[in-house]
Amino acid sequence: MKFHVLTLFPDMVQNGLETSITGRAIERGTIGLNVVNIRDFSHDKHRHVDDYPYGGGAGMVMQPDPIYEAWTHVTQGMDQKPRVIYLTPQGRVFRQDMARDLAHEEEIIFLCGHYEGVDERVLDEIVTDQVSIGDYVLTGGELAAMVMIDAIARMVPGVLTNEESGTYESFYNNLLEYPQYTRPPVFRGREVPEVLLSGHHARIEEWRRRQSLERTLRHRPDLLEQADLSREDFSYLETLGYKRDSWTDQ
Ligand code: SAM
Repeated sequence: MKFHVLTLFPDMVQNGLETSITGRAIERGTIGLNVVNIRDFSHDKHRHVDDYPYGGGAGMVMQPDPIYEAWTHVTQGMDQKPRVIYLTPQGRVFRQDMARDLAHEEEIIFLCGHYEGVDERVLDEIVTDQVSIGDYVLTGGELAAMVMIDAIARMVPGVLTNEESGTYESFYNNLLEYPQYTRPPVFRGREVPEVLLSGHHARIEEWRRRQSLERTLRHRPDLLEQADLSREDFSYLETLGYKRDSWTDQ
């Protein structure tokens, strides 16, 4: 899977993603990263890529031509044009299920805006998806693109090792993950739950499942509406005060 990022701040994206797990995956060739500096496609002698907004108002707007040329540079010779995701607070909010779906694409192009945003005409011309990483406004799309690429990359086979495997993490099946503990067994008087030291796998599994249900009910009860709950899960949640009209057997 290959990620292309159109940005005015290539170092930020490159340095961020070439670190830790995504960095290792890039080095091994499990994922590819092509960061393109939009400024390289400016025809202005000062390499400007932004201008004042028509109609007045604060801030600057990124001009369409350099972005279009950067996109043409990336897509030339491709039989099938990849999806182009514009990062914007106005887009559909990014979630784990979107990361899972996007991990099936062979290539994705991310367009990072800056300043007041991007001239609407180039968005109409090249963008297939508009995505937000949450209901707040960032100064640029770079962090948002990095968040998305990190989450998508972890879903690509071979990026995580067995030990890092994300199968049972938060949002898997719309539940939050159970609490995790490691050595030492006692930290500032706080003990690791006894069941985790018991070596009894069935009891550990049951404890983890209940913790997961309890946490989801406490922190994100909205997720439970979409969760696959067994009769046992449902009965346990009922003891915690949760009510849902129907449930699906696992
Ligand atoms: N004026 C724009 C608006 O109100 O929709 C916001 C522009 S913002 C200051 C600059 C750039 O940051 C945007 O073009 C976008 O690429 C990025 N950005 C800001 N917040 C974001 C978010 N929540 N998710 C994804 N990208 C975001």
